[in-house]
Amino acid sequence: MSIQAAEVAKRRTFAIISHPDAGKTTITEKLLLMGKAIAVAGTVKSRKSDRHATSDWMEMEKQRGISITTSVMQFPYREHMINLLDTPGHEDFSEDTYRTLTAVDSALMVLDGGKGVEPRTIALMEVCRLRDTPIVSFINKLDRDIRDPIELLDEIEAVLKIKAAPITWPIGCYKDFKGVYHLAQDKIIVYVPGHGHERIETKVIDKLDSDEARAHLGDLYDNFLEELELVQGACHEFDKDAFLKGEMTPVFFGTALGNFGVDQVLDCIVDWAPQPLERGAHERTVAPTEEKFSGFVFKIQANMDPKHRDRIAFMRICSGKYEKGMKMRHVRLGKDVKIADALTFFSSEREQLEEAFAGDIIGLHNHGTIQIGDTFTEGEALGFTGIPHFAPELFRRVRLKDPLKSKQLRQGLQELAEEGATQVFFPERNNDIILGAVGVLQFDVVASRLKEEYKVECAYEQINVWSARWIECKDEKKLKEFKDKAFENLSVDGGGHLTYLAPTRVNLSLMEERWPDITFRATREHH
Ligand code: GDP
Repeated sequence: MSIQAAEVAKRRTFAIISHPDAGKTTITEKLLLMGKAIAVAGTVKSRKSDRHATSDWMEMEKQRGISITTSVMQFPYREHMINLLDTPGHEDFSEDTYRTLTAVDSALMVLDGGKGVEPRTIALMEVCRLRDTPIVSFINKLDRDIRDPIELLDEIEAVLKIKAAPITWPIGCYKDFKGVYHLAQDKIIVYVPGHGHERIETKVIDKLDSDEARAHLGDLYDNFLEELELVQGACHEFDKDAFLKGEMTPVFFGTALGNFGVDQVLDCIVDWAPQPLERGAHERTVAPTEEKFSGFVFKIQANMDPKHRDRIAFMRICSGKYEKGMKMRHVRLGKDVKIADALTFFSSEREQLEEAFAGDIIGLHNHGTIQIGDTFTEGEALGFTGIPHFAPELFRRVRLKDPLKSKQLRQGLQELAEEGATQVFFPERNNDIILGAVGVLQFDVVASRLKEEYKVECAYEQINVWSARWIECKDEKKLKEFKDKAFENLSVDGGGHLTYLAPTRVNLSLMEERWPDITFRATREHH
């Protein structure tokens, strides 16, 4: 195996999907603890609160108790390199989450054992299904009263339409939680409470049919045997191929707060989840082991650290190797750029990075030239596919409080639109600025960031727009005809694309009927 193939084989890049409060932050912390990225659990949260104190935008995040920012964390584990991509949990940020999920090779689904499958879990699973992303499941909070585990697995299968194969099975819960039984390996992994914040040796009892197991389970023993018989009869056996095709999820049980079971999940990701996969581009399929570098930008984020006021473009490497100081071709601009200062997110701190391989995420300093969906290569004109923009469903007209600041407003909105924080439309017929969003909270974030970062205060007004459609037409003459007729409702978006702003659903269907040569797109792939 070449050095590069060996590096690719070591990589695992995944995200956690869950409903708010299921325990994503707590698990992230325990994963970092295991990767020795932090020494004591608790530091992730405290860093979050430092940031909260310094920015209004973060202040808002704190008040609403939601996670707006996405971050990337890299840490080593068992001779492997793990890239963990955090996704925002609130439904208003579905676009951002969607794009983050285009950059991973697998996902960890976390369920609250007391609640089971919740709405946000369903929505995120649907996104994963679009790419058949393999899913590992973790049922959390076994230190509390949970629902019947068999019922939970049934719910996963019925609601999420994926086969569930338990790898471990819980022994009791709440005050009786004794650990989990590994079905295939016939061993008990013993739960030792009170070690939530540190790494400890796992205590294992070999064989359920042993005196030690009987002693550990006590009164629960006989019932557990019965339950196990039921489980083994009714549940699917794990099938790795089905897992890799996204048709089956291995299920683990534990408590993130108690730091129990998270290591089994990480082992599963290392042992079974795919290494960086090949990626589709318009021109061809790109293999991760190819020698030449390539990658795409899936997210742009401002102000991650109040001390650095720049914006960072997050790039997933698809092939080749990044080396400090290398030259990359910015394909959309057709320009070569020298990248000397890419960032990695090792142990959740920014660090200067010397090299990186397929599956890794690197951060590029962006001074306004990088957009979501941009591809970088060593010269080849490639464009990676599958990183769409969605037509917004909510619209507001922006009203500036101080008319002298219109330049700052435009610049701010342009940059926030490039980041994907909002979409911006400039109508052809007047000087209005219209914002589009998928979730209503996005408008508040934009207003608060405009104030904080661009010193511009604005208010919103309702506007009569139902949806937006990106316009495409190969026939220049037809397009001109359409543009003349539809002038009143046409605008240009932040990326310079012609857009039709439909006042009503009926209006849109009429227009589609009347103009069969014009394509009205509800999603726009970058470029
Ligand atoms: P997120 O919204 O998914 O990031 O959830 P958090 O990790 O912030 O957890 C939500 C709440 O559940 C917090 O109060 C956690 O302390 C708590 N929590 C997380 N995991 C467990 C667990 O295993 N047991 C118990 N009892 N509480 C947990």
